[in-house]
Amino acid sequence: MHSVTCKRRNRKFVGDIPLMSHTAIDRLVTLFSKLPGIGKKSAGRITYHILDTSPALAQTLAKELMGLHQAIKKCGTCGGFTETDPCYICSDPQRDKSVICIIESAQDLRIIEEGREFKGLYHVLGGLIAPLEGISPANLSIDKLIGRLQSDEVKELILALNPTVEGDTTALYLQKTLKDYPVEITRLASGMPVGGNIEYIDKLTLSRSFRGRVKV
Ligand SMILES: [Zn+2]
Repeated sequence: MHSVTCKRRNRKFVGDIPLMSHTAIDRLVTLFSKLPGIGKKSAGRITYHILDTSPALAQTLAKELMGLHQAIKKCGTCGGFTETDPCYICSDPQRDKSVICIIESAQDLRIIEEGREFKGLYHVLGGLIAPLEGISPANLSIDKLIGRLQSDEVKELILALNPTVEGDTTALYLQKTLKDYPVEITRLASGMPVGGNIEYIDKLTLSRSFRGRVKV
């Protein structure tokens, strides 16, 4: 990331993290508090925990973070994060290639995999249609999905999208766009709370949602 100088205060910044004006502890608290789900208080707790623990933890953390973007890529087929391309799911001969589960993010893939119910393949859209945020179908990995449907191996697409306005809009768009393809489109059913998020559903409910999926 480029460092820039703030003319008004003449301080150096990386992104919006001030480099010169705070102590190392303040900088780390600010950095941690930028992570999802971590407020200033938790960020402070994490920082002091790292300080109180042996330097090995900080060193291992730093090493893993430094190499993260080099080690992890996106699978050229499904879009999930992987160290090999294609990923271990796309290249696993035991997986059911006739079913593709369509998800918003690579994180959803991990959550569904942990449920151990689904044995097919995945397709990560990389977001949901949200006109107000400027996210249109062109920003999502839909062309790639259509490319995967050219092979007649795929018989069913399961829309595992969050039941939110954006999830519904995206599901509807996919139904319309893919209606001429010889695939059955289903959607996760029972147990998905309206406005809820796959991230917060327990494994049993998620597994029931897969079994009880409905044709759309
Ligand atoms: Zn893959």
